[in-house]
Amino acid sequence: MNRPDLLARLAHSQAERAEAGLLRRLRSVEQVQGPHIVVGGRRLLSFASNDYLGLAQHPRLVEALCTAAQRWGVGATAAHLLGGHRAEHEELEVALAAWTGRERALLFSSGYAANLGVLGALLRDGDLCVQDKLNHASLIDASRLSGATLKRYVHNDVDSAQRQLQTLPEQAALLASDGVFSMDGDIAPLRELATLCRAHGALLQIDDAHGLGVLGPEGAGSVAEAGLDQTDVPVLMATLGKALGVAGAFVAGSASLIDGLVQFARAHIYTTAMPPALAAATRVALDIARFEPWRRERLQALIRHLRHGAECRGLQLLPSRTAIQPLLVGDSTAALRLAQALEAQGYYVPAIRPPTVAAGKARLRIALSALHTEAMVEGLLDSLAAVRA
Ligand code: PMP
Repeated sequence: MNRPDLLARLAHSQAERAEAGLLRRLRSVEQVQGPHIVVGGRRLLSFASNDYLGLAQHPRLVEALCTAAQRWGVGATAAHLLGGHRAEHEELEVALAAWTGRERALLFSSGYAANLGVLGALLRDGDLCVQDKLNHASLIDASRLSGATLKRYVHNDVDSAQRQLQTLPEQAALLASDGVFSMDGDIAPLRELATLCRAHGALLQIDDAHGLGVLGPEGAGSVAEAGLDQTDVPVLMATLGKALGVAGAFVAGSASLIDGLVQFARAHIYTTAMPPALAAATRVALDIARFEPWRRERLQALIRHLRHGAECRGLQLLPSRTAIQPLLVGDSTAALRLAQALEAQGYYVPAIRPPTVAAGKARLRIALSALHTEAMVEGLLDSLAAVRA
């Protein structure tokens, strides 16, 4: 038999990646103390977390989690349709729908699964799926799995999106975009995309993983900030593991969309429901995110502080007004060296390299949180300026 050996092939790909200096390294965090982490026995100030509002360790969330675990146990024990759908899930779905101004919402165990579920349910062979080139990997993977024809447009370029929609004018079409781009921090031209989709009869889906909790009135996200509602953006997806500090995700939209997903979203049907205690903690997180605006204001003040300080030091950040503030480096090795030099000074700022970003676009992804202080940001900027010199 002459079949290729799959494990040998995997090892070969890994060796190639190592040779290119792009091997990813899994590191174990030994402790978390506010914005600090302990890695390899060293305490580092982290600018890597997506805990934008500083809720992941909030005592009220921890208490809600523990209390709900006492009541419900740890696991949901089954898929939603087979007895795993607990009152905690139901209440959270109602609260998420109300927050985002949608008729209904449906929980998923992760954002990755939510995107697989929604695109898989909506799209069929021969349909058209138009996506921003910088969309999150889960949207790209979801489209590929769905069997639809995937056409990607130039980042945030509505004309390019229009050209892609026109390539298959007769096919059912869905256009998907991140609301806030995960590695760039910029925001999609949401109003223009909504107008485009309306004109071309395409369904619009926005993945607001990094906008929910951070942008918009009561933190309802980038779509709400743009003044768009359910008719403009019929499919809204967001995650619960970022600004809300917990884990999981949801899709929100019309009752008929959600009913359809319950029937056909395989990533919702064929998987264990999220632990109900997580749903309970998320409900508390939602209330805090919604009704404690000072966290968002604090985050915005830190963003302004970082950007002003960077400008004063000649450090050019990518244009962004969200918690994600990347410093473009370009070369992968240089980005890794910069991250290592920062780590030597006590800062954890991960280098993002290909294939997560395009070749030549390696960067440091600085993520701010309401847990940071101005002094912490100043310290980071001073160190960055020193190691960049
Ligand atoms: N969409 C976007 C835009 C993301 O940044 C992420 C998380 N990196 C996901 C989806 C996936 O979410 P989760 O981590 O919950 O699987």
